[in-house]
Amino acid sequence: MSVYQNAMRQLESAAAIAAPAGATVESLKRPKRLFEVSFPVRMDDGSVRVFTGYRVQHDDSRGPFKGGIRFHPQTDLDEVKALAFWMAIKCAVVGVPFGGGKGGVTVDPKQLSEAELERVSRGYFRAIAPFIGLDVDVPAPDVNTNPQVMSWFVDEYARYAGQQVPGIVTGKPLAIGGSKGRMSATGQGGLFALDEHLKHEGRTADGVTVAIQGFGNAGQHFARLAIERGYRIVAVSDSRGLVMNSAGLDVQALVEHKNKTGSVVGFEGAESGEAIEILGFACDVLVPAALENQLTADNAAHVQAKIILELANGPTTPEADEYFAANGVVVIPDVLANAGGVAVSYFEWVQNRGGHYWSYDEVRAQLEKKMSRAYADVRAEADSYDTTLRKAAFIMGIRRIAEAKEARGWQ
Ligand code: NAD
Repeated sequence: MSVYQNAMRQLESAAAIAAPAGATVESLKRPKRLFEVSFPVRMDDGSVRVFTGYRVQHDDSRGPFKGGIRFHPQTDLDEVKALAFWMAIKCAVVGVPFGGGKGGVTVDPKQLSEAELERVSRGYFRAIAPFIGLDVDVPAPDVNTNPQVMSWFVDEYARYAGQQVPGIVTGKPLAIGGSKGRMSATGQGGLFALDEHLKHEGRTADGVTVAIQGFGNAGQHFARLAIERGYRIVAVSDSRGLVMNSAGLDVQALVEHKNKTGSVVGFEGAESGEAIEILGFACDVLVPAALENQLTADNAAHVQAKIILELANGPTTPEADEYFAANGVVVIPDVLANAGGVAVSYFEWVQNRGGHYWSYDEVRAQLEKKMSRAYADVRAEADSYDTTLRKAAFIMGIRRIAEAKEARGWQ
């Protein structure tokens, strides 16, 4: 099954419980628009390479398309379509006035020099510039893209438009209109969702053990903030391997080690293992924070955690999801768990439009409000349909999108 097919199965299984009247489900099966672009880039050795990129605009009934841009060697149209669809559901679930979009370039950024990365970033943004806009489609960071890449995007767009449009992209550095708290937003939002869930179970964070797959933006900030709350991070993996310490990893030192060496592997004060072992690690909470299709029918039974917090998009296949539901493993789904990223992206867009910037405390407080509201809404939906948090989130997201389509006369 492709990633997009899996996403459509999620849509159908939620719609089978509570489909809204009209054509919403049918129209959510297809993106409104999609672009495949190719663009030439001069490499450092003087040769020219032609790259392929995508931008998928899935649905804009609730507001401008919104979603990150991924640089990855395996990125293809199918993956970007799935990610754009999930963004539409996620924005509806967390209650921000955006639709769903996503972009990507098929490239391994680790093989590029800094200058080549800049030219690839600018080349891609020039190619999609005619199709995006402040009130049309607003990109952001995703896997292997960061505030520096967003800076090149916003600068390239200013050249294209002949004026500064800071809100064209979110996830920018503070120096050019970024929001305080955006870097840590996905991890922080996931932590708020997990806190709410434990509260619901009548537990606290104290001593709860956590294993994290992926130690990039989402995973690192989550880990750093989680230990401040009393959680114990017992294992972390990245694409090269795994490090573990049952007494708890020193996350700050691990971040420094990864920044210095490019990987968590070789970190002192921890034992090492194979990257894949993370999924079956003995812990209370498993946090996939890397890529999609990690938890499958083949490995679901190995999972020992009783809670899975999906900071990554699409880490669990529908088969694994069924196994978890039948075996008492609670999945806090991506469209809820990682929605903190797009929530603070929305705050950034609002700040750019108003030209007035918020304090870190204000951003954090607003994010907490959004995440606890979203968790409570999804929980209520799950209780009323007696279903999983994922199906509940989809039911709610689909209904909110249907209301917008109805209001616009699109169905
Ligand atoms: P990133 O590029 O900063 O980090 C990705 C991490 O995953 C890296 O540490 C990499 O080594 C690791 N990884 C890759 N393959 C792996 C494997 N097979 N096993 C273990 N680790 C592996 O990316 P990110 O922004 O942190 O995004 C991670 C996930 O979170 C993605 O699914 C993304 O869509 C999702 N997400 C990110 C944001 C955001 O704001 N950055 C928001 C919502 C969702």
